[in-house]
Amino acid sequence: MNGAVTEDEEEQTFRGLGVLVRSYPLPPAALARIYRAMATIPGLEITGHLVKDAAGREAVAVTRQEEGTHQRREILLSPYDFSYAGLRFVVTEDYELEWPEDFRGASAQKYTAGDITVDSAPHRRGRRGRRGRQALIRTARSLPAGAGVRDRGADTGPGGRDRCAPGGTVLRSRVMTTPECYACVQEARFDELPPRERVDFDRYWRVAHSFTTSVPGWLVLLPRRHVTAVHDLTDEEATTLGAWQIRLSRALRGVTGCEKTYVVQFAEAEGFAHVHFHVVPRTADLAPEHRGPGVFELLRAPEHERVTAGQADRMATSLRASLRGRPAGG
Ligand SMILES: [Zn+2]
Repeated sequence: MNGAVTEDEEEQTFRGLGVLVRSYPLPPAALARIYRAMATIPGLEITGHLVKDAAGREAVAVTRQEEGTHQRREILLSPYDFSYAGLRFVVTEDYELEWPEDFRGASAQKYTAGDITVDSAPHRRGRRGRRGRQALIRTARSLPAGAGVRDRGADTGPGGRDRCAPGGTVLRSRVMTTPECYACVQEARFDELPPRERVDFDRYWRVAHSFTTSVPGWLVLLPRRHVTAVHDLTDEEATTLGAWQIRLSRALRGVTGCEKTYVVQFAEAEGFAHVHFHVVPRTADLAPEHRGPGVFELLRAPEHERVTAGQADRMATSLRASLRGRPAGG
């Protein structure tokens, strides 16, 4: 089965108009035009009651079921001036999400209708932040452990985790995650990730060690928001992508002594449609049948041949030290 997520035209239009609404402060006439366009999208609904946005304010929800998923996208608007008030995803039916068998340690996640998996609201950082409105995203506290944040209307108060980089940038800014994606589930619990799942990172990219491989140092480079095609990466993501690929290759050469690295991107497995670049150390002694595309046989290694979590953590620590220009342990 192919796990690629496709988007129908209506869904794309709804998502696109949603991006427009939240991207810039727009004059009322322009907003009104966007809403009129939105209203023509089949399947669009407006909830009959006010909901609470991620900041606890009342909002009108313009909503549409996301095709092929168990949730609907909701664009939240201020009931006073119809300005953008947030974006969230709400589970529409009870379901259980199973990860592929070869993902060790994962148990099925249960979702209940009404759970909120992603909840965001525009946020002003202090008095000076007036012009710099940033999307501040609360990802459901439930991920990946189990029950979601239930929408009980009034009780969706503050409490999400927002991370601040040194310098006060909200790292979750403009991050969009989906719970049906392994990479996004990991991203949602970023602060708790072990070294092997967070070898290094910046605002746009996270580096993880593969958990199914027999090759020590098999890395995966992932954008920090849900993207399923390379052409959908932003200019900022594109600019840093090249630097990451080279830096990781240099670190791998330094730490593993590999002759070269392979860089490969497919993102076709179910649950793994999130863009991810494999950066694989190719050692001098790699068997001929595993050179080139054959290396992927080593990504689905039998359990007893796999790099263990402990080994992957140690490799991650060494690589991180190399990436950050200091010896391991320093
Ligand atoms: Zn994702």
